[in-house]
Amino acid sequence: MKKLNIALVAHDARKQELVEWCTHNAEWLNKHKLYGTGTTAKLLNQIMIPITCTDPGQVCPDCLALPLSVKPLLSGPLGGDQQIGAMIAQGEIDMLIFFCDNLITQGHQQDVGALSRLASLYNIAFATNRTTADLIVTSPLLVDNSYTRVIPPVIERYRNRFAVS
Ligand code: PGA
Repeated sequence: MKKLNIALVAHDARKQELVEWCTHNAEWLNKHKLYGTGTTAKLLNQIMIPITCTDPGQVCPDCLALPLSVKPLLSGPLGGDQQIGAMIAQGEIDMLIFFCDNLITQGHQQDVGALSRLASLYNIAFATNRTTADLIVTSPLLVDNSYTRVIPPVIERYRNRFAVS
């Protein structure tokens, strides 16, 4: 399976939900490079992944668990969402799991909208809720080496357009 760059973000009201989802998928997530907005990353880095000791006859406390490793970016309201957006535009993120609070308007709502727009524009795998996140990480396409993400041709056309005076 190709190692993916995955960004993880949750608004405060949904952080617990993301912690639960990441705990459930910790072994799978651990195979990939993970990024998160500041507070989200701090919480996710407390998740311990159970690992099997290479010597089953031994009780080895150091081998019982390993923390999830999520590279922290800035906190979302302080620019973290925009950092992830820039990484998407530079081709550095393959997947975004973003559990947004849909019941309140965030102080950084425009950043949330901008991040969602770039995730959609660059055709990355993008989940805003748990069911979609579950379906994405269990997709057989993730282990199909012939499957590649299409960069929408409109991006190349836009990049090469001529200014009209
Ligand atoms: P946080 O940011 O992980 O730093 O709380 C999340 C967000 O609101 O984008």
